[in-house]
Amino acid sequence: MKNKYYMPTRVIIGDDCITKNSELFLALGKKALLVTGAQSAKRNGSEKDVKTALEAVDIPYLVFDKVMSNPTIACVYEGAAFAKENGVDFIIAIGGGSPMDAGKAIALLAAQDIEEGNLFSGNYGNKVLPMAFVPTTAGTGSEVTQYSILTNDKAQTKTSIASDLLFPTVTFLDAKYTEHLGLSTTINTAIDALSHAVEGMLSVKASSVSNALAVASIRMIMNCVPNMLQALQSGSERVFNLKQREQLLQASLMAGMVIAQTGTTAVHAMGYSLTYFKHIDHGRANGLLLGEYLKLVEKVEPDLAGRILAAMNFSEAEQFQVLLSQLLGEKEEISSAEIEQYSKQASQTKNIANSVVKPTEEDIKTMLTLSFAK
Ligand code: NAP
Ligand code: FE
Repeated sequence: MKNKYYMPTRVIIGDDCITKNSELFLALGKKALLVTGAQSAKRNGSEKDVKTALEAVDIPYLVFDKVMSNPTIACVYEGAAFAKENGVDFIIAIGGGSPMDAGKAIALLAAQDIEEGNLFSGNYGNKVLPMAFVPTTAGTGSEVTQYSILTNDKAQTKTSIASDLLFPTVTFLDAKYTEHLGLSTTINTAIDALSHAVEGMLSVKASSVSNALAVASIRMIMNCVPNMLQALQSGSERVFNLKQREQLLQASLMAGMVIAQTGTTAVHAMGYSLTYFKHIDHGRANGLLLGEYLKLVEKVEPDLAGRILAAMNFSEAEQFQVLLSQLLGEKEEISSAEIEQYSKQASQTKNIANSVVKPTEEDIKTMLTLSFAK
């Protein structure tokens, strides 16, 4: 086991934590760029609270609200050009993983000139604009990670920029912004967080500290699962109270702290093709694959799988697989040609090398086939 823990982001948690801590923005710069998706930040009150806090400390701001889900490289270059043209000196990203990841790349590209071909290499200087983050989904943990994951059309997958420069300076967690998240986004993003915690325990970089955070995160998410199942059954969107939303947001935060140390493993490696080619939401893509991967781990490293399953109050990976199937509902179709292509691609990623149990290309084919079996 390794013993390393690095997470330099200040985390502020609680009701109205943005407007109550507006002075924190003064340390970040003199002119802010708010980076958001098209709609949700305007609807859930988060953008308004950030603007109120900035106005309270006389900081001018602009808004770049063009971030789509699974942000593209073109989008972050456009955001960075806008930031430079307007003399912005810090970034506030508000939203799910997409605006947060885009915000990180914009902060980097606004501070230094990096050609597209060099973006994922890490071969550049150490300048970046300071960043404040407001997560409004409970899933990616991007608010406390050093990763910016972008849709990379040249490589036909999603590729991460991984650099310690990308840790936000400060993150504000206020669960009220997540209160009206729809049921399927709530479930998909919770599964993403669960996947981070589980994969963190399955990484060659797992440590006692990351495992402690992962187990706590898994328990908190599993405590919310009965309500998700109930909501699915009743067809209701409003089954989660604020307390549960807080639990999910903090579980996602902790799972983010885990992957900041460990990286992700085979599940994310396989999931990226499902998102890139089949437009399956990131968290759902992980959820479709997580059960089969844990079954493989159970065969090869039963003690390791057992520790993860114990945190879920399960004794066998099959029980977890059944639960995931209930949460995810009807599965998409996948062809054997697609399985062939995605397996080849996933087997070459660094996430596989990062896994304690390293699936072969053949293993990946089997997992993809079983994951989509009806
Ligand atoms: P997302 O793509 O950020 O958002 C999904 C949808 O949810 C969007 O339509 C968004 O609307 C909406 N939304 C966001 N917050 C909402 C709220 N409070 N209420 C209602 N709707 C809301 O989804 P995500 O799952 O959070 O992020 C996925 C991205 O994160 C992927 O690109 C994935 O690769 C990345 N990721 C990054 C890390 C990391 O460590 N950096 C880890 C895992 C995943 P708007 O567009 O209008 O905002
Ligand atoms: Fe993820």
